[in-house]
Order: sequence, then C-alpha cells, then structure tokens
Amino acid sequence: MRALCLYTGSSPGADPAYREAAEGLAVELVQRNITLVYGGGHVGLMGAAADAALAAGGRVVGVIPSDIAAREVEHHGLTELHVVGSMHERKMKMFSLSDAMIALPGGLGTMEELFEVWTWNQLGFHDKPIGLLNVAGYYDHLLAFLDQMVDQRFVHRAHRDLLQVEGSVPELLDRLARYQSTHVDKWLD
Ligand code: AMP
Repeated sequence: MRALCLYTGSSPGADPAYREAAEGLAVELVQRNITLVYGGGHVGLMGAAADAALAAGGRVVGVIPSDIAAREVEHHGLTELHVVGSMHERKMKMFSLSDAMIALPGGLGTMEELFEVWTWNQLGFHDKPIGLLNVAGYYDHLLAFLDQMVDQRFVHRAHRDLLQVEGSVPELLDRLARYQSTHVDKWLD
C-alpha cells in the first residue's frame, strides 16, 4: 500500500481519544512509508492527522474544493494540495490517488464519503479495501444498525463484510494490507 485515503471529522469531537487516534494513524502511516491522502483542510481531526503526519516527516496530499477552502481553512504546509471544482471531483480524486480508504470518527461528510466508496465497491466499480476505525466505541450503534440491515435482508452479508472494522490502528492497517478481493456479485431476492 503506497497511499491511504482518510475520511474523518472537520470537528475534533468530544472525546480526546478521537484526536489521539487521528494522530496515531498519521504517525503509523509515516512509519509504514504510506502517503496520507485527505480532504486538505486544517480543521478538526482532518487537520490533526495532517499535522501529525507532516511533523513525523511524512507525505500528505490534500484535495479541497475551491468554495470549501475558506471554511475548512486549506492547509498550506502539505506536500501537495489539489484545489478542485466540486465535492464530486474531490471524492473521485481522493479515491483515485489512494490504494485503500479508511474512516475515523466524523460527521455527515465522513459518513457520506465512506458510504459512497463502499457502494462503489458493492457495485464492482473498484476493489480497494475499505476500513473503519471504531475509536472508543464511536461507531458501535452504526455497526449494530448494519447488522440490522443484513438481518432484514436489505444488505447482503458479503457486502456488509467488505467493510473491515478494527479498534486499533496497527490491526486495521495490517488487515487492509492483507485484504484479498472478496467482491461478490450477489443480490438479495
Ligand atoms: P464532517 O464529517 O461532516 O465533519 O466532514 C468531513 C469532511 O467531509 C469535510 O472535509 C467535508 O467538507 C467533507 N464533505 C462533506 N460533505 C461532502 C460531500 N458530499 N462530498 C465530499 N466531501 C464532503
């Protein structure tokens, strides 16, 4: 894995564990010689991860739409900053620059980005691994709801299992590195 795309909050969240996880991920990526690709902002957990990776001597690539740059304060210290024309372009560029995608705690934007690449995987548009870092149980209710979606036969178990979930950064990165295609073209009837 050469580059990993991070989706995470433009806010810091309530629990300091979220920031620690974002910074821990960033340092671990540098140690593994993996470029961090993210939304290019200076705010919240996004900014914390970028700062930590840069401080550790890593490569950080940001992708930010011009009309969002003011709100999320584009990061001026990045290895590369791509200013794009729209949110759609941002997501496509972040995806195409990366070998895997992971979500840390975040809000609606984080969810939207995660679910979009996950549905692209479900549809067979790509086969890159997708991970979720469940820091301090933040995603416990989402994971329970995903089980409900499977139980109620709206989501195939194989498609649910495309999302690799771990509670620690090294375990999640090891799992993504081991990932073998499990894409199944199966649909519920
Ligand atoms: P949030 O998780 O809401 O704090 O947002 C995290 C990041 O997702 C921020 O950089 C937002 O600009 C971004 N974001 C929000 N909505 C979208 C979207 N529809 N497409 C791409 N990025 C988005």
